[in-house]
Amino acid sequence: MIKPQSLIRSQVRQLHAYVPGEQPRVRGLIKLNTNENPYPPSPRVLDAVRKAVDQRLRLYPNPGADTLRAALARLHGCAVGNIIVGNGSDELLALATRAFVEPADLLQTDLRRPDPGRGVAEALSAQVARGVSSRLVQYFTPSYSLYPVLADIAGAARNPVPLTAGFDLPGPRELAEGGRWDFHAALTFITTPNAPSGRGYATRALEALCRAQRGVVVLDEAYVDFAEENAMELALRYPHVLVSRTFSKAYSLCFQRVGYFVGHPTLIEALHKIRDSYNVNGLGQVAAEATLRDLAYYRRNFRRVIATRQRLAQALASLGFQVCPSQTNFLMVKPPGPATAEQWLEALRRRKILVRWWSAPEVRDFLRITVGTDGEADVLVATARRILEEM
Ligand code: PMP
Repeated sequence: MIKPQSLIRSQVRQLHAYVPGEQPRVRGLIKLNTNENPYPPSPRVLDAVRKAVDQRLRLYPNPGADTLRAALARLHGCAVGNIIVGNGSDELLALATRAFVEPADLLQTDLRRPDPGRGVAEALSAQVARGVSSRLVQYFTPSYSLYPVLADIAGAARNPVPLTAGFDLPGPRELAEGGRWDFHAALTFITTPNAPSGRGYATRALEALCRAQRGVVVLDEAYVDFAEENAMELALRYPHVLVSRTFSKAYSLCFQRVGYFVGHPTLIEALHKIRDSYNVNGLGQVAAEATLRDLAYYRRNFRRVIATRQRLAQALASLGFQVCPSQTNFLMVKPPGPATAEQWLEALRRRKILVRWWSAPEVRDFLRITVGTDGEADVLVATARRILEEM
């Protein structure tokens, strides 16, 4: 009998898959766990999607999302060749690991016979010490927890390097002195503003890092519409820098799965070569195109989310929470003791409020709370006060 397990690539067998936040089936929960926008898409977007639901569903969509790319090119003042659209920005982050990073050499002796106590991913990462830069995916910790998973799927080595205390970005000199950063890494992901800390980074600091890097740098700007600065100019100035954006968060379109990269046409072309032919669904294209025709609506929502973020940060701080400064639509907070952050997660869950918590050492003392409406923020603060009183 064939053992199905034996048919699966060893990396995939041992993979710790990405764990998305809970999407509850029951109603009545306050959902502050996946950084969705609390406000609906603009009425014009809903109308455009409704009007597109007709016999067209029979046909394939435009394979390159050409109309959407043309609109994005106008928005960012670049050429269509600078842009690729994906099934969410997650798809493009995965394509980047496939296009720019060589898989580590599985025939090397330590990988053919990995330590019993050490998985293939760890063995691959040990190659970092031997300077296998073309096989290296590099990122800061904490940042988006998908990056290590993408590296593992691609069979690439990963190099997680800690941010400074306070989750700030180290400069190139600090990184060189630290000795762990690889300036030749094939692919470096930088989440800016950072997730899950919410911390914003200055374009000048990002530029200094990009200039020091020899491989591809992806600036993951999933939350940038809630920030003071964005680094789009770097993608149009440097041939090795790509900026990643999404319609999910700021544009209330998680459901439709549309994200895009901007960068040098040669890198963008490489990504086009390996994407699925029809990687962006038709209704997603329609919704994103209509979104770009109604940006004023969304800019009002950014301002509302930012105002609620400030109110919520103050209210939680006055209850004794330590609140990290945020330039995103979420707050990373350290709840007051004696309960642990994990116990707070559960206490809030019992009271029908979902937030996010990770067990990784650098973030296990924190909760990440999405900024909802003012009403949701009020309920959260009142609930936190009650939990504190009952402690
Ligand atoms: N980057 C970061 C930092 C994120 O938090 C997310 C959402 N989980 C994404 C990218 C992906 O967003 P999407 O695939 O919805 O575009």
